[in-house]
Amino acid sequence: MSDCIFCKIINGEIPADKLYEDDRVIAFRDIHPQAPVHFLVVPKKHIPATTEITPENSGEVAYVFEIIAKLAKQEHLDGGFRVVNNCGENAGQTVPHLHFHVLAGKVMGETIV
Ligand code: AMP
Ligand code: ZN
Repeated sequence: MSDCIFCKIINGEIPADKLYEDDRVIAFRDIHPQAPVHFLVVPKKHIPATTEITPENSGEVAYVFEIIAKLAKQEHLDGGFRVVNNCGENAGQTVPHLHFHVLAGKVMGETIV
């Protein structure tokens, strides 16, 4: 997708503060962090949103979570972390390329919103 900002990061057209990359997934720090640790884990395949997950592409989502587990160890998120996916307008999704926020580094409590 030529006008997708995350595809541009994946293609190296715009820079990002990368934590991890392989042929299927990229992880980079959020440009507007909302917690002391805030990075995004993104499948390289352009899936627009959670509503577009299908039997054909759900393996990419499972693999994202494998990488989240790896990064939690790599980044020493031993106190715990939160994984957030925003889908659609009411949830505040601003980038139409599936991604998972990983938030950590502070006590977030038991409420989600
Ligand atoms: P969402 O609102 O769930 O679609 O999340 C999109 C996230 O992408 C926001 O938290 C933005 O701060 C972040 N973001 C947008 N552009 C960039 C960028 N170039 N590099 C890193 N993070 C970005
Ligand atoms: Zn994209």
